[in-house]
Amino acid sequence: MLSAFALFGILIVSCLMSVAILGSLIRTAVPGVVRWCLGYALLAAASTWIVVCAPRAGGITIAGASIATLGAAVLLVQGTRQFFGQRAVWGAESAGLVVVCAALVYFTWMSPSVDARGVLLSLGLIYGRLAVGALALRHGSREGTRYACRFIAVAAGLGALVYVARIGAIVFGVAPSLSFVQPSPWNVALLGLAILTLPCMSIGMVMLAHDRILGRMEKLATIDELTGALTRREFIARAHVLLAQAREQGDPLSIAILDIDNFKAVNDGFGHAVGDRILTHVASIVTGQLRSCDLFGRLGGEEFAILFACAQKHDAATLTNTLRLAVERSPAEGVHCTLSAGVGRFVPADTLESAMVRADAALYVAKAAGRNRVIMTSDADEGEARYLAESR
Ligand code: GH3
Ligand code: MG
Ligand code: MG
Repeated sequence: MLSAFALFGILIVSCLMSVAILGSLIRTAVPGVVRWCLGYALLAAASTWIVVCAPRAGGITIAGASIATLGAAVLLVQGTRQFFGQRAVWGAESAGLVVVCAALVYFTWMSPSVDARGVLLSLGLIYGRLAVGALALRHGSREGTRYACRFIAVAAGLGALVYVARIGAIVFGVAPSLSFVQPSPWNVALLGLAILTLPCMSIGMVMLAHDRILGRMEKLATIDELTGALTRREFIARAHVLLAQAREQGDPLSIAILDIDNFKAVNDGFGHAVGDRILTHVASIVTGQLRSCDLFGRLGGEEFAILFACAQKHDAATLTNTLRLAVERSPAEGVHCTLSAGVGRFVPADTLESAMVRADAALYVAKAAGRNRVIMTSDADEGEARYLAESR
């Protein structure tokens, strides 16, 4: 049978592996990872301390290693809380830790009792496991990391059961006066289960961190950081889907291309940083007024596009003009800026690109006519597009 020492050795190696894997994620700045990493490092240190000093471990080793183990459990809870953006509960957790540590000191030197220490340590570790599991379950679906959260919750729950079993064994006299380093079947079973659940929890934590990184990358690829509008690539991808749906259902669809007027002069006159804030401001006005069914994307620089779902060309032009007026009437940082737009509709023969080319041409007409206006594509141009497609 594996001895308790061999199991402690496996526990130390598995904790160090968790430290190495979680440590490799520190540079990603995912909240909570540093505390998870410190928690596993502290656990490895506490287990090493026990193995090195046993079998003649004195009070310092027994109390010190127990307190370090509890500290590690608290660090894992705090890391999980930080990951899910929850406020730290320093007061209650520190107070609890101090009380348990004081009791451990009492049952080590004043009134030595292996059983009382075992119950206390187990209670602290049960709290640690249950708190991590509960946080993962509570925030799992909201974070879109359901699988990883359930994985952690199951591992943490099993870990808690191990310590509940240990308390039961002590209370009901099945395994009294048993320190963790004694080579009894109980210790082998308990340590074995702890060895299974601890790395599983760290695997779950790594999954959570990876999900968060993936989410960040997806956001970067789909949402323009400065304006909050869809990126060009995402706008075009979603527009293709909307166009196909509109075709299938016979719904009208219109598109507007918008461009801020004389924006180079804004940059030259007020600086690039002010230019950036004006871009954000204009985009927020547009976002605030659009219907939820419309698509808003940044095509590049100070040029944007809107796909108006279920909208005829005139309705789209009216909505775009409302946006133009809103931008004109709300200067940002004392800078008045205006925008011009070209608006067109999709005719049956259109591709997304052909309709965008016509809207872009209308935008240039708006610029040539003096800017700060909305111009619709002409029915003649749309008729020509239909004729060209039919004669292809
Ligand atoms: P027009 O009315 O004809 O559109 O004139 P314009 O000055 O707006 O157009 P032009 O194409 O000459 O200049 C666009 C400017 O937009 C130049 C570029 O430096 C600026 N620009 C593009 N992207 C950004 C950005 O992300 N931030 C800032 N601050 N400026 C940007
Ligand atoms: Mg411009
Ligand atoms: Mg431009």
